[in-house]
Amino acid sequence: MLPAGSLPQCILAWRDFSRRQVTDTVDRQTRSRMMAGIRGKDTRPELALRRALHRLGFRFRLHAKGLAGRPDILLPRYGAAVFVHGCFWHRHRGCRFATVPASRPDFWKGKFEGNTERDIRNRAALLDLGWRIAVVWECTLKEPAKIAETAAILADWLRTDVNQIEIGTNSR
Ligand SMILES: [Zn+2]
Repeated sequence: MLPAGSLPQCILAWRDFSRRQVTDTVDRQTRSRMMAGIRGKDTRPELALRRALHRLGFRFRLHAKGLAGRPDILLPRYGAAVFVHGCFWHRHRGCRFATVPASRPDFWKGKFEGNTERDIRNRAALLDLGWRIAVVWECTLKEPAKIAETAAILADWLRTDVNQIEIGTNSR
């Protein structure tokens, strides 16, 4: 490639333009919302699930500190830890919300792999301690009609002695 100084002005302008097009696929507001989401507590879908569980008579602890991955909902009586996972950050397989941003593919690939590996490690650590684990994907909690249904599935599982359950709608 020619050094930048020798390129005609119009080509330089075009290059800047096309570069901008790629990097701005996700605008800054959306990006900061996405970044905030990863450590988000009391997100709306999680709150909805908690409310529904509470209505069914379950009592629980929240964001259990000191436990791997800080499960969102902990039901010691049932030996159960519940994670409400955002489909984007935790990579819900086959889910239409698990999109890949167009810009910086390597950055995202590393980020997603890190998140997924951490989730696997956390689940293994909890299982080792004798906890049972439920993963509820946020996409199942997006429609109000599905929230009660999801809570009911979770409630049924809590009363069994099955080790793990994953509740999610694969919507793609
Ligand atoms: Zn999903």
